[in-house]
Amino acid sequence: MKNEFMNVPIFTGEGKIHFEERKIPIPGDNQLLIQAKANLLCGSDRNQFYNGSPKCIPGHEGAGVIVDKGKNAKFDIGMKGAVYLYDYCHKCRSCQLGLTNQCLHKNYDYGFSIDGAFCEYYLINDYVFFPVDESVDVINATLLLDVMGTGGHATKRAQLVHKDIQSVLINGAGPIGLGLLAMSKLTFAKDLPVMINDVKSSRLPLAEKMGGLPIDLSKQSLEEGMEQHGIKNPDVAIDATGKAIARKNALQALAKRGVLVMVGNGEGLEFEQYPDMGGPERSILGSEYFSYNEMEANHELLKNNQEYLSQIITHQYNIKDVQKSYEHFFSEDSDAGKIAVVHN
Ligand SMILES: [Zn+2]
Ligand SMILES: [Zn+2]
Repeated sequence: MKNEFMNVPIFTGEGKIHFEERKIPIPGDNQLLIQAKANLLCGSDRNQFYNGSPKCIPGHEGAGVIVDKGKNAKFDIGMKGAVYLYDYCHKCRSCQLGLTNQCLHKNYDYGFSIDGAFCEYYLINDYVFFPVDESVDVINATLLLDVMGTGGHATKRAQLVHKDIQSVLINGAGPIGLGLLAMSKLTFAKDLPVMINDVKSSRLPLAEKMGGLPIDLSKQSLEEGMEQHGIKNPDVAIDATGKAIARKNALQALAKRGVLVMVGNGEGLEFEQYPDMGGPERSILGSEYFSYNEMEANHELLKNNQEYLSQIITHQYNIKDVQKSYEHFFSEDSDAGKIAVVHN
């Protein structure tokens, strides 16, 4: 390494970030030193931005290039790719089935409990690195994480219990909602009707541009919106809002055999066993992140749909303006989909 030191952003809380000099770490056995190129902002960064991150440098949706490696580490220096969030154990019953998002003994979460991609250089264990094809832009490689990964996992959860999905309703047209929309189109069928609602009108034009059927809840009710699109009862509803009322309305709108998948964390859900669940045999499923091995198929989708998917990244900031990027992202009337913070 030429420079032994780097500047890293310190999240002190109350929306303040300053930079401090740190030594660039040296990879141990089976470790990779990643030069971070980009990291996408996420709603789940809210706590670190407003309450601080004393344990580590944040950044859990990162992509970069391998610049050094320890003994026995797989992958080669120079490869670019995305970094999976969970440092999973490989051994527990979930990991044995490949369900690394349900690991029972994970070591840590990159960007939450150990340094993440806002560090220009950071260490990872080789098994959380996912290399991408030459044709994939390194900034777009971040889309493999929460956007395509979490979005795609939720759509696959719905397919577990519903075999002939003909329409989808998405609650929330923010960054996760846009990922759900894109992955519904790409996993189910490009011409599948996907309705997408939000109380913020400013979010809907991009959703519509990406093929969603918009429902502006600041101007109309869910029923009115669905009727306007000619779909009374969708087969699948996916909630990205975490709001109890949004979930309940979606559940009650579902067709017979319908599935509600809950992605957004937040509030609860109230329902009556009958008629909400028992009569129409509806299902309610949780969905959390995605497993490492799901990235392989998503990588194929990304290679073939890079232009379509990259629309979700609406803004870019340099790392030196990381505080400004969050002020933009968390502002009340934010027009942002995903915001990428880039190094250099
Ligand atoms: Zn995230
Ligand atoms: Zn495990």
